[in-house]
Amino acid sequence: MHNAQAEGNAFFVCDFCHNHFADDRPMVEGHKGALICGQCLTPAYTSLIHLGQGSEHAGAHCTMCLEDRAEAQWASPAYPDAHICVRCVKQGAGVLSKDPDFNWSKPLAPAEGSRVVDDEDLDPDVV
Ligand SMILES: [Zn+2]
Ligand SMILES: [Zn+2]
Repeated sequence: MHNAQAEGNAFFVCDFCHNHFADDRPMVEGHKGALICGQCLTPAYTSLIHLGQGSEHAGAHCTMCLEDRAEAQWASPAYPDAHICVRCVKQGAGVLSKDPDFNWSKPLAPAEGSRVVDDEDLDPDVV
């Protein structure tokens, strides 16, 4: 969204977290001035693309493309009225990851079982 009261970076406000544009907060623009920042796109991408979540929002109005698409959507945890569909997540991730001005890349798939310890630590002989 746009903050008409502000100028410069503060004019561009992410619809999903309500933070404004900054050097470490790149944004992708949707229809009617809708915006999603890289820091929201990361959990959206992980949830929809890697984990296959978001189906409970299918058919809801996507904030970015304004369509009621019958596909999974990610809703912002902070502002649940803001939704983004799979197609917009893919498009946005493609745009941001190719932009040389920003150090943003698509999130990697979470590791199998999301283990955070080394295999050595899982040795059953070690107490
Ligand atoms: Zn955001
Ligand atoms: Zn969309």
